[in-house]
Amino acid sequence: MKTMKAVVFRGTGQIGVEEVPKPVPAAGEAVIRITATTICGTDVHIVRGEYPVRPGLTLGHEPVGVIEQLGPGLEKDYAVGQRVIVGAITPCGQCFYCLNGTHSQCGGALGGWRFGNTINGAWAEYLLVPDARANLAVIPENLTDEEVLLCPDIFSTGLSGAESGGIKVGDAVAVFAQGPIGLCATLGAKLKGASLIIGIDSNIRRLDVARRFGANVTLNVNDGDPIAQIKKLTGGRGVDVAIEALGRQETFENALRSIRPGGTLSSLGVYSGKLVAPYEALYAGLADQKIVTTLCPGGKERMRRLMAMIEHRRVDLSPLVTHRFALDNIAEAFELFSTQRDGVLKVALYPKAVDAMKKAGEIEIASAR
Ligand SMILES: [Zn+2]
Ligand SMILES: [Zn+2]
Repeated sequence: MKTMKAVVFRGTGQIGVEEVPKPVPAAGEAVIRITATTICGTDVHIVRGEYPVRPGLTLGHEPVGVIEQLGPGLEKDYAVGQRVIVGAITPCGQCFYCLNGTHSQCGGALGGWRFGNTINGAWAEYLLVPDARANLAVIPENLTDEEVLLCPDIFSTGLSGAESGGIKVGDAVAVFAQGPIGLCATLGAKLKGASLIIGIDSNIRRLDVARRFGANVTLNVNDGDPIAQIKKLTGGRGVDVAIEALGRQETFENALRSIRPGGTLSSLGVYSGKLVAPYEALYAGLADQKIVTTLCPGGKERMRRLMAMIEHRRVDLSPLVTHRFALDNIAEAFELFSTQRDGVLKVALYPKAVDAMKKAGEIEIASAR
């Protein structure tokens, strides 16, 4: 049996690099060799024991790679050696939920999220891709791995917050929290045609990036209640759409308080425990407000669209990749990311050692472009 390196969840607070069996694809499946991946806030929840997965599971749900092996039935559609990404969400495209248009809920609640949740994930040398025909998205030749690294999850999720919110041209939008997903939601609000985009966070560096990503106004929650400011900026009404991108009671409540009657709260955060909607913010439940939630859209057509936005230079996500590590140094990378030190937004993880790749000229450093 062939083996490979993978980062395995051993229990709360414990991850480590282990030698595990290299996957073999069955009919309709493919194996890709991972060339780059990254760490998500959701992985932090998992390692801290706030979202349960089984010990022994390989984590990670943001894969960039090269097709290594195709299971039977895929020869006409793909070739070994093609560069691909795979969405964090891998819908089957055929079940009740997929055929009703809710691909992320494939097979049941949250069922489309399989990598690093219910099956082995991308923090490894190789990754088994289920339902490969629906999920392998070929990378345009002129794009680097790092340029498309955030498509599988962060860009797809952040943008979906703006899409699900139904933002219209000229809308006023508030985005609560400017982490990587909130920043992509801010970018999404701009792409959807919002006129006023208000970015809210407590981190000055993140608010700086928010302005580069399309926010015309930024509010630091440390400077006082953002709701009064938002009302002032919107003629006393509140915003048309608020996007919640953190997953806390406080930001959910603020997002709800910030929308006008008839407005929409588009929620992206991962909540834990009970979530409360205050009576007055909900206008007794009578103000024609909408609350919508979205789990990262996946599948190859979604990935193609996102990569097209990068290929045609409508968006540039490179400011979000702030640090680079070899996969072997996952502990160091995880510590940096989970504590949000050194202005970190996203870290790129390379199964091949970074220094060796730099020497070989295989990594294009984002800031040098
Ligand atoms: Zn994620
Ligand atoms: Zn399905």
